[in-house]
Amino acid sequence: MKPAPGRQGVVYVASRLVVEAGATFSPGAVAVADGNVLLAGPKADVLRAAPAGFPRMEFPGEVILPGLVNAHVHLQIPRFTDPAGMPLPIPPSFVDWILRVIAWRLGATQASFAGNLRSAAAEALSFGTTTVGEIAGPDLSAYDGCPVRARVFAEGIGFAPHVANEVLGIVEAAIDRLETTAASNPLVLPGVSPHTLYTVGENLLRSLADLAAARGLPACIHLAESVPEMAFLADGGGEIASRLYPAVGKDVSWFGGLGRTIPAYLAETGILREGVLLVHTVHLARPEIDALRAGGARFVLCPRSNASHGNGAPDITHFVDAKIPFALGTDSLGSVPDLSPWEEMRAARSLYKGRKKDAALCRELFRAATENGTAALGLPGGILAPGEPADFAIVDDPGGDGDRFFRGLLEKTGRENVRLTVVAGQSAHGAAA
Ligand SMILES: [Zn+2]
Repeated sequence: MKPAPGRQGVVYVASRLVVEAGATFSPGAVAVADGNVLLAGPKADVLRAAPAGFPRMEFPGEVILPGLVNAHVHLQIPRFTDPAGMPLPIPPSFVDWILRVIAWRLGATQASFAGNLRSAAAEALSFGTTTVGEIAGPDLSAYDGCPVRARVFAEGIGFAPHVANEVLGIVEAAIDRLETTAASNPLVLPGVSPHTLYTVGENLLRSLADLAAARGLPACIHLAESVPEMAFLADGGGEIASRLYPAVGKDVSWFGGLGRTIPAYLAETGILREGVLLVHTVHLARPEIDALRAGGARFVLCPRSNASHGNGAPDITHFVDAKIPFALGTDSLGSVPDLSPWEEMRAARSLYKGRKKDAALCRELFRAATENGTAALGLPGGILAPGEPADFAIVDDPGGDGDRFFRGLLEKTGRENVRLTVVAGQSAHGAAA
């Protein structure tokens, strides 16, 4: 592509450039104009082709990476603390955890949600994250100033058949509000999220599936996260029925289970179609994962959140060995100590039990945390190619070549190694911010 003369821009030069998990250049450079990548490749080629007058920023000893993608997060949920400000331990029962979130939501001030979003987004940027898959919090107006690229999923919750229409109306209004945000903040796009299969009844699930299809929006659902969820979906019993619903004053004794396999249920309700995003998928058998994949599903795995709740672990080995693309998400600060995609990659690495060599696995996990994430969210970026948004991070180069470079990157990178995070061509974190 021949750049138009005279456009305002800048050239970032570093010891190495990762264009995507499969292509690196040493040294490399990225020319940015109007928020997008104009050129990306070997330093000499980019400097030769870059328009005259573009200032140059040099980062010796550093590597330019596509911005990381945290594909599942709730930025408005804070770290939970006791009245003295000490972190609260995560309760051993997942139902107690859900009750804690409900209590927080009811007790929090409206003003606190935007503050939580601001600080969580700043934390995400500090790790080199440029893009998130966000489950909308209570304050939709907070996304007007969202500084990271985000697919913001408007969430619907309602299990009893008679509430389906009312909840559908609430979700439609939320999407309208997020469309208003998107008109002024080009980083934000809306989506639809039926919360889970144990909090969204069949009528509402069908309605939300129809809504997503009619408006051309991606859908996202938490699925097969915990043992109590699986017990409830199987026959309507377990802790969800005996403790969760009674605690919120609702009767679900009429529910006797899905009566079908999860893939069959998702297909029949219309939610399983190309691009639907399934989050967690811990308690599924391999044939079920394969069936969901065949139905068009994409996957976000959150190994640290699952571990912290005692919910088990996603089957990283199967996803990697069967070449099923997956993205990674941290989940909220209520579940994990920080929003580090690096820690999430390391957690996923520790779960892999297959035969793939470790360094090659690390490259795949980097792909999971970049281009697989944007693909899962239906957002641009995840790679640094002409025409893509200029979303990138500049971090300390760990050295090494090929797969070993990616292993070094995974092993050595933390927040302290992130020099600069750029979103849509603007410095959003670091020295030049
Ligand atoms: Zn979640």
